[in-house]
Amino acid sequence: MVDVLADIWDRVLRTLQKNHSNIWRSWFEQIEPISLENGWLRIGVPERSWQQYLMQTCNESLKEAVQEITGHLISLEYVYTDQENILESDLANYQGDETGIFYFSPDYTFDNFVVGPCNRLAHAACVAVSESPGHTYNPLFIHGSVGLGKTHLLQATCQSLLKQDKQRRITYMSCETFVNDFIRAVEEGKLYDFRYNYRHVDVLVIDDVQFLTERERSQEEFFHTFNTLYQSRKQIILSADCSPAEIPKLEERLVSRFNQGLVTRIDKPCYETRMAILHKKAQMRGIEPPEEVICFIARKIERNTRELEGALTKIHGMAMLYDGKITLELARQALGEEPTPPGRQISISQIIDAVSNCFNVRLSDLQGKRRSRSIAFPRQVCMYLARDLTAHSLEEIGGYFGGRDHTTVLHAYRNIDRLYDNDEKTRFLVDGLVVGLTQR
Ligand code: ADP
Ligand code: MG
Repeated sequence: MVDVLADIWDRVLRTLQKNHSNIWRSWFEQIEPISLENGWLRIGVPERSWQQYLMQTCNESLKEAVQEITGHLISLEYVYTDQENILESDLANYQGDETGIFYFSPDYTFDNFVVGPCNRLAHAACVAVSESPGHTYNPLFIHGSVGLGKTHLLQATCQSLLKQDKQRRITYMSCETFVNDFIRAVEEGKLYDFRYNYRHVDVLVIDDVQFLTERERSQEEFFHTFNTLYQSRKQIILSADCSPAEIPKLEERLVSRFNQGLVTRIDKPCYETRMAILHKKAQMRGIEPPEEVICFIARKIERNTRELEGALTKIHGMAMLYDGKITLELARQALGEEPTPPGRQISISQIIDAVSNCFNVRLSDLQGKRRSRSIAFPRQVCMYLARDLTAHSLEEIGGYFGGRDHTTVLHAYRNIDRLYDNDEKTRFLVDGLVVGLTQR
């Protein structure tokens, strides 16, 4: 019976790997089926985060595969097998999204994080904090632009802390959730509960604190939460897309609190780190693309790590549509054009040229004061590209565009970045400009 079950499970995994390569992870090999009875397949997992990943990301695909292979209607149950460590309070450790419960991603562990010159200090600080929370760097503040691994490091730190001591009270959440929670508490007259929840934790981790911009009352509340925890030597870890001083309209006293501990930046990964990250991601997905494909992606995608991963997923997905083989030819097709020669320097004036041609606006308009959308949008695109493609600081970029200050540049960057994620037209336009600038 056990053999039959093992055989079914093995075939299920192979089917999943073949048809749903994007969600497949190499740790699936370690999952054990427990029983198949009365239309239920019970699957044992040793980690909470695995259980969540399977339930939320894979349940439908897994069910489909199980039904295809057995020819029966079957439901799945994911059982947490680490019985010794099951605690009544287990779930209370996590807080977060709309449902009030937050789960960490099994992908975001220290083991899966590649260390390079761009993130060495941030990584070392997180490891140190996970080893002695509240004592080394407090608060720890990590900043860097999108897709460079801030959330990954924060979650890895939390997971490592929980691994060492499951009783630890860790609150991890995005700053947006904190703000929304606060607003709701005020509206419902439940400030006491809110304060109790946030101030009785061992570790408070808040992702993307730039969200505090212009939220005065939330800043005030955050300030007091911070002080209470700090004074009782509880660990605080924060991330943002810029340094504390660069967060627009952040109260001075908060800036100085954030600067009290360690502030460290993550930069864009260099070529070697990009290669190592691709190797790691491939390994996690149980695939082995040829070295030339890894080099090709690492040369071609420089903007951030999230896109690097996206490229790998895309190529892998395309390969699965054919014979499963990943080749350079296929990678070229999947990512379009020829690779860029490495190390090319792009100047702000090249960016301005490209953007003014594309939108048919004049240099003097881009540098001038007019704020109509027909000018403001191209200007924001310029600033976005300048931040992404050149090494200039926010101040320097502001200087090029009529002496605007760094907060304006940051605002522009965020605006275009958001549109890039949510609006196909903007993405198409930005990608076109980037290709034009990097492939000349
Ligand atoms: P951020 O929060 O800074 O916007 P994320 O933490 O969401 O970035 O990272 C985006 C993606 O890139 C994630 O899938 C993450 O695992 C991956 N990533 C970023 N840096 C690294 C790294 N050094 N090693 C492995 N994966 C990384
Ligand atoms: Mg993030």
